Amino acid sequence: MNREFHGKLIIRGRIRAVTGLHIGAQREVAEIGGIDNPVIKDPLTGLPYIPGSSFKGKLRSLFEVLTNSKLDEWGDKYPSLKKYLPGSCRPVGEENCGKFFNKKINKGWIHVCPDYDSALNCPVCRLFGASGKESNFPSRLIVRDAFLTKEWENKWRDGEDITEAKIEVGIDRVTSQANPRTNERVVAGTEFDFEIIYNVEDLKQWEDDIKNLLTAMALLEDSYLGGSGSRGYGKVRFIFDSIEFRSADYYRTGQEEYRVSIGTENRSVVDVLRDFKGLFSEVESKLGAG
Ligand SMILES: [Zn+2]
Repeated sequence: MNREFHGKLIIRGRIRAVTGLHIGAQREVAEIGGIDNPVIKDPLTGLPYIPGSSFKGKLRSLFEVLTNSKLDEWGDKYPSLKKYLPGSCRPVGEENCGKFFNKKINKGWIHVCPDYDSALNCPVCRLFGASGKESNFPSRLIVRDAFLTKEWENKWRDGEDITEAKIEVGIDRVTSQANPRTNERVVAGTEFDFEIIYNVEDLKQWEDDIKNLLTAMALLEDSYLGGSGSRGYGKVRFIFDSIEFRSADYYRTGQEEYRVSIGTENRSVVDVLRDFKGLFSEVESKLGAG
């Protein structure tokens, strides 16, 4: 096991709710006449936010499914994937051997590499982390909670509604009785500030990791965040404001020469992927060819 630290990439931008967004809160006590299914809110301000754990979890799950579809193609670049190909179980006898989705959480299967070395050679686990049976691989990503942008916080201060109660009617299949429930959701158009921090631990891997992160974000734009996605909730779009690189020497000296600021003003995730080489050229020269 070997860990290095070369710097951090700090990616900042906005998450725009294109449709109403519902990330549920676990509530103990139901209010009479209140909303059945409220959105999660910051206990300090009472304002809705997107927990980093929900955001990161969704990115991971979408990227896991993509990876599982590319086991063959990606096996040379990410050797761990080879052992998940059908019929190539190694070591034989290991539980769920040869299965990419190998760990059951609640009612669903997820992917987790069993140890540090497998995770290091897996595009999912080295980015998102793995708590394996033998050893853990710490996530290279930190996804912060996303709070309302200043603009939307001000709208709320000015009395604008930023959440709405939407009535969803379930029909009892036997009695045909309507069973209405009120879902709270954040209104379409609302924007949250996101911040994602990536630790550069390997000079040969950071480019792939960042591209994989961007790919997961692109997949999320055509999926959904939060609940009731199949009923139209949770369509989001990412707007990139800036990407900053801080080298290890920046943390030792605070000198500007060890920092790179990449302006990405209002670029979409697909724009950033497409312009990757150009946008990251200065970071690449700071980090060396690897
Ligand atoms: Zn893995």
